[in-house]
Amino acid sequence: MQTAELLEKLGVDAASIRGGSLSVASPVDGQEIARVAQHSVADVATAVSRAKQAYTAWRSVPAPRRGELVRLFGEVLREEKENLGKLVSIEAGKILAEGAGEVQEMIDICDFAVGLSRQLYGLTIASERPGHRMMETWHPLGVIGVISAFNFPVAVWSWNTALALVCGNAVIWKPSEKTPLTALACQALFERALKRFGDAPADLSQVLIGERDVGEALVDNHDVALVSATGSTRMGKEVGPRVAARFGRSLLELGGNNAIIVSESADLNLAMRGILFGAIGTAGQRCTTTRRVIVHESVADELLKRLRKAYDSAVIGSPLETGTLVGPLIDKDSFDAMQTALKNAREQGGTVHGGERVLQDKYPNGYYVKPAIVEMPEQSSVVKHETFAPILYVMRYTDFQTAVDMQNDVPQGLSSAIFSNDLREAEFFLSANGSDCGIANVNIGTSGAEIGGAFGGEKETGGGRESGSDAWKVYMRRATNTINYSRELPLAQGIQFGD
Ligand code: NAD
Repeated sequence: MQTAELLEKLGVDAASIRGGSLSVASPVDGQEIARVAQHSVADVATAVSRAKQAYTAWRSVPAPRRGELVRLFGEVLREEKENLGKLVSIEAGKILAEGAGEVQEMIDICDFAVGLSRQLYGLTIASERPGHRMMETWHPLGVIGVISAFNFPVAVWSWNTALALVCGNAVIWKPSEKTPLTALACQALFERALKRFGDAPADLSQVLIGERDVGEALVDNHDVALVSATGSTRMGKEVGPRVAARFGRSLLELGGNNAIIVSESADLNLAMRGILFGAIGTAGQRCTTTRRVIVHESVADELLKRLRKAYDSAVIGSPLETGTLVGPLIDKDSFDAMQTALKNAREQGGTVHGGERVLQDKYPNGYYVKPAIVEMPEQSSVVKHETFAPILYVMRYTDFQTAVDMQNDVPQGLSSAIFSNDLREAEFFLSANGSDCGIANVNIGTSGAEIGGAFGGEKETGGGRESGSDAWKVYMRRATNTINYSRELPLAQGIQFGD
């Protein structure tokens, strides 16, 4: 199916993808597939004031009714899972199974948010004063700005939006300039749900297509209560301080540098599965991609032998063909960054297996690579840097504490895992002295999180949490209420004032 036909099915207006100033290329073959109109910086202020109006009306709608809109959106997504998933594959280069998987994540978060719409509860707290009661109430926050990365072009927005909406907010989305089509499709599908819902205020969800300047205008706007920004650490280092300078809130989901420790007691069959999906899935372009393996010297040769064999047989090709496991990199910049990292790794003593460009004859403008395994003598500077491509650095250890120290000795802190059948090692890894990451797993890899848990990481990953658990609280403001039902007005801490 052609992209235009797919977009039409999803409800995107054909005029919006022709003649614009933003050229959209598919990583499948590097060819232009659309030209999308861009918003200006001035459009951002207009969108924010519209969103503010929408929020003012929406915050008074009972939360379970707000949940109904999200339920309907989940229903539309179920109907269009295949089409939207395919569009993700065309625009972001994910294999079909992963494109559909990303839409399933959207459906899952909608289900979660619908349940949440009846569970936005606070605490009742014992007061130190007689005849008093304390409690917490949670109120909607306002306008939520979502800035997203190319590699999860639809799921990240939905994680934020499903929760933000049931919490009573309005959302403005600035998707990656590399993936505007999937954003337009999501907006069209959301509008389908809005029609079914009936009486929602206009502009509850808006999309602003544009580059960094549009993102910056959203970041700097005082009426955007929360900026949820997903992308590189470089981006987060700019966005975080700018939002803080105006006392706004930010939720940062930035780069990762995720490691798997394979201990001497590991089940190597399990470890192989976990490493392979984590390292070469999505062509190494997930924030949770496994970038480092820290393996006990007694099993290192065996693991490396099996890994090289599996890498050599992984099917690289068009993500639109069934059977493909490794699709393309997003663009030439990404390929160049991978080659630079491999050169640096060699200079730092690494032995590289794979990493070369393939399928160049078939796709002269598509960037397909053989995923690389790089044996490193130590965790040098190149290993500590997130290169957004399929490079797996493998390092050996002899002493378990050294392995844990190596796992933690990088600037990022997103996801981590240990493969071990030793209870002491596994529990230590999960303890306060173990992994310092936001995600720590045992006998399961670093990527492919479920929506039920809070998602995010520490250190340069930004500290934000979104998706499940109590991540909803960041989309609301907390009020502490004290109610006096006595006939006195005692002061806290027993203070006597003017008596
Ligand atoms: P990127 O940082 O280049 O761009 C992300 C988004 O930020 C884009 O929409 C871009 O236009 C916008 N942007 C860039 N600079 C900005 C600025 N100064 N102000 C406002 N907006 C700005 O990232 P990318 O290449 O699209 O994505 C890959 C990166 O994202 C990787 O580092 C990956 O680890 C990270 N990522 C993290 C998570 C997570 O949940 N932690 C999820 C997905 C991707």
